[in-house]
Order: sequence, then C-alpha cells, then structure tokens
Amino acid sequence: MKKNLESVAIIGSGVAGLSAAIRLALQGKQVIVFEQNPYTGGKVTAFEKQGFRFDMGPSLFTMPHLVEELFELAGRTPKDYFQYHTHDEVCRYFWLDGTQITLYPSVEKNVEAITTVFDKESGKRVRKYFDDARKKFELTAPFFLESSLHKMKTFLSPRVLKVVSEIPRLGLFSTLDDQNKRYFKEPKLVQLFNRYATYNGSSPYQTPGIMQMISHLEHGMGTHFPVGGMHAISQSLTKLAKELGVQFELNSKVEQILIEEKKVRGVVVNGAKRKFDLVVCNSDIKHAYQELLPEQVRRPKKTLAQEPSSSALIFYWGVRQTFPKLDLHNIIFSEDYKEEFDRIRTNGPFWEDPTIYIHISNRLEVNDAPKGKDSWFVMVNVSYDQGQDWGDIVGKVRRKLIERMSAMLGQDITPLIETEEILTPPQIQHRTSSVGGALYGTSSNERMAAFLRHSNKSSSVKGLYFCGGSAHPGGGVPLCILSGKIAAEWIEEDE
Ligand SMILES: Cc1cc2nc3c(=O)[nH]c(=O)nc-3n(C[C@H](O)[C@H](O)[C@H](O)COP(=O)(O)OP(=O)(O)OC[C@H]3O[C@@H](n4cnc5c(N)ncnc54)[C@H](O)[C@@H]3O)c2cc1C
Repeated sequence: MKKNLESVAIIGSGVAGLSAAIRLALQGKQVIVFEQNPYTGGKVTAFEKQGFRFDMGPSLFTMPHLVEELFELAGRTPKDYFQYHTHDEVCRYFWLDGTQITLYPSVEKNVEAITTVFDKESGKRVRKYFDDARKKFELTAPFFLESSLHKMKTFLSPRVLKVVSEIPRLGLFSTLDDQNKRYFKEPKLVQLFNRYATYNGSSPYQTPGIMQMISHLEHGMGTHFPVGGMHAISQSLTKLAKELGVQFELNSKVEQILIEEKKVRGVVVNGAKRKFDLVVCNSDIKHAYQELLPEQVRRPKKTLAQEPSSSALIFYWGVRQTFPKLDLHNIIFSEDYKEEFDRIRTNGPFWEDPTIYIHISNRLEVNDAPKGKDSWFVMVNVSYDQGQDWGDIVGKVRRKLIERMSAMLGQDITPLIETEEILTPPQIQHRTSSVGGALYGTSSNERMAAFLRHSNKSSSVKGLYFCGGSAHPGGGVPLCILSGKIAAEWIEEDE
C-alpha cells in the first residue's frame, strides 16, 4: 500500500517560503502555501502605473545562482524560467560637493577608479580591501550563511576550525566603520564602504567588521538584474512550485498554528481548522510568537528582544525625462553618515541630511518606462515603525529629496514627476506582517546577532520550522532563499 504523503503548511509566500515549498515538493511532500495577500512573493512584488513599472521591494540582485539552483534541482533549465542581465557597473556615487565615482564588478577597474578620484589612496591598500572582502566571504559564507548555527553538526565540521583560527582577522571585534578606516584615508571612501551595513538593515557604527564581505557580492561576484525586474524572481519560483504540485491558497491569512502535546497538528485559516503533519512559518518571527503560536509555547526571549532592522521610505516616481548621469543604481551620500545612522537606530528626530538611493530599472529593462522617460525608485533608510508621524516625515523627506536631486541633476525635478506612489514602514508591515516594517528582520547591530537569530527549527514544538528574513541566516533575497533551503533540509534529516 502506498504510504500517505506527509502534508506541509507553509505560512507565507515570501522568497523563503517559495524556496522551502519547492524543495519540500521535491522531497515528495504535499505542500500548501497559505498567503494572506492576493499575490505571491511578499516583499518581492511590483506594480504598474501610467506606463511605468516599479519593483516595490528589493532592487539589488546578488547571488543569482541561488535562484537558478532551484530550477536545476527540479530538473529544469533555469533560463527557460528565469534570466538576468549582467551589468558592467555596480553603482554611481555622488556627494554634495560634486565628487562623483562609479564602481564596477572588477577589482582592477575599481582600483583605477578609486586612485584616480581620490589621489591620497594607495592602489595596494585598495586592492587589499577587495581581496580581504573576498577572503572573508569565502571563509565564512559556508558556515554563517549556508548551514544552521543551531546544529551540532555545523560546529563539528573541519571548516569551523579554519574559521576559528581566522577569528582575529575577521573583524568580529571591531565595527565595519573601524574596519574600513584601516584601508582608506579618504572619509568619503570609508562612507562608501560603510554603506554595506545597510544590506541587512544595520548601522556601520555598530555592525561588526566581518560585514566587509558583503561588498564582495557586488565587486567580486558581479552585478545582475533579472529580466522582467526583481518581481521575476518570485513569479518564476511560484511557477516552478505550481508545476511541482504545490498548492497556493491566496487571501488566506493563517490565524493560529495548532499545537497539541508539543507537536504541530495544523493551522487555522479563515476560521477553519486544517490538519497538517508539518508547518513551515515564513512570516516574521515576532508576528509568529505574538499572533500565531499559543501561549504555552516557550518564547525565545533573547531572540525576540533583538533590535529590528531599519526600514525605508520609498518614493516611486514616473519621471517625464531621462537622465544619462544616472545609472541602474545611484547613491547621493549625506554629509554626516554617523549622525544619520544614530538617528535611525535611536528613532531620533527627523534628520535633514538623508542618504538617497535611486534605482532606475529601465536602464536595463527598457520597457519599464515609456520612451524618453524614467522609472525612479527613490529610497531613504529610516527607523522601523515606532508610532512616528509618518505623514509629517514623508512631507519633509520628499522636500529634501527634491532639493538634493535637483541640485545634483542641475534642474528642478518637481515638474518632471508624472506619477507618484509612496511606501512607508507601517504599509510594509501591513502588506507583509514584518513587525515595524523592518526590511531585513532583525538587525546585525550586535556582534552575536548571527547566533541570536531564530533557528530554522523550533526547539520546543515538534514539526514546526521557520524560514525568512527574521530567521537564520537573515534578510535579503539570497539569504532568505538559503533559509528556505536550510529549513527543508532539516525536515528531510528529521525523517
Ligand atoms: C523596500 C525594500 C527594499 C529591499 N531591498 C532589497 C534589496 O535590494 N536586495 C535584497 O536582497 N533584499 C532587499 N530587501 C529585503 C528582501 O526583500 C527581504 O529580505 C525578502 O524578500 C524577505 O523574504 P521573506 O521570505 O522573509 O518573506 P516576506 O517577503 O516578508 O514575505 C512574507 C510573506 O508571508 C505572508 N504572511 C505573513 N504572515 C502571514 C499569515 N499569518 N498568514 C498568511 N500569510 C502570511 C506575507 O503576506 C508575505 O507575503 C528589501 C525589502 C524592502 C521592503
């Protein structure tokens, strides 16, 4: 007789939930994904307005092999489902005094660009920065990103000994800012490389120096952008999951995870009890403990006390002109980066001097804007929602953005804004259940943050697993895909 297939409920269709769903379907399980929204993808979604297309959430795409791997596992040819451009520039950086530099996915080109614009810098030190970023990534990624930090097996691996022997050189005991000051004399360059703290919603003045490795993702591993925009990531993974038999129930908010005798029994969805053997929770960990898990489930106090990552204010502007000075990714830096991050971390009063990120997808995806026009995603980092007066903040930030961008482009951009949509932290929370609208789950502002992130498996409830930005290994599209992988692998091992 054929053994009954194990059934799995996945709560949420973020990229981590999709990654877990695909792997669990390939393990032969019956998988149902419950998604409260009428669409899949969570933060990786998009919208169109008056001929302009905008990715609503992520815009920086790194480690494309992690998306491709899912198609390969399913025996598909990745490019039949998902393709991407490889771009020859990483980012264009601008400062208010007129300084400007472009960096590339090439160490040699970067050494040349940096020593040309900043003549105080030595080519040797600059090359060493990129080399050290690569070494840190190659040494630690298999340990910190690709394995569970909650399994004994991970710590028994011979590779851990190598990581331990390198600890003095990893920058675990200094901040990213301290670390970058050891390589660069020019404060603008320290600021530029401090920016990598924002890739997981942290402050460069708090997060450990090991985060230098993030810069390797772009400068060493290349700059990419999906054909069809970032949205193509979640949509192609949804397509694959459906082909593998995963069922999606949209507009279906999970209200409770059912637990009896310390074992998962199912979920309550739209008021109905549904039985499942296993549950994988892709929602924010705080949301899960606050709303989905009964009180008798032990709360991981230290994990839940972790500081949320920063959030963002995003202005999606359809612009009736195109500016060759701007590329796919552009940054206009603030004059006082330290003060900017201190205000974000402490939720201080509105800061008049924000760093501005401008992403223009139609530089590569030409149909994202009508001919001769630009589709601008303009973002500033802000604190996660703690009840701030967002109406007031949006008005102030908008005026500042227009003033700074107009000065940089040498033209008043106000009359050029043809369409506008705005996304605030409370709206991010409303759309994704991410507490406070945090973009990346918890921040990495503490040295031990990697070890305090929630495990991919519950330590107190049998059959309950976790994936997504607030679980190990953390936020950002590639790490979330890895968290779905770690959760699915753990389920397989537990069998
Ligand atoms: C504006 C913005 C910019 C970003 N920029 C980048 C970037 O450039 N590069 C990058 O790599 N990352 C970026 N990120 C972060 C990245 O988008 C996230 O880390 C990642 O997409 C989170 O995926 P996830 O799997 O954790 O789930 P999420 O995307 O958070 O999705 C969780 C899903 O679960 C659903 N859900 C939650 N609770 C329930 C429930 N009770 N019942 C049913 N469904 C539920 C939600 O509706 C949602 O669809 C950005 C994020 C934002 C918002």
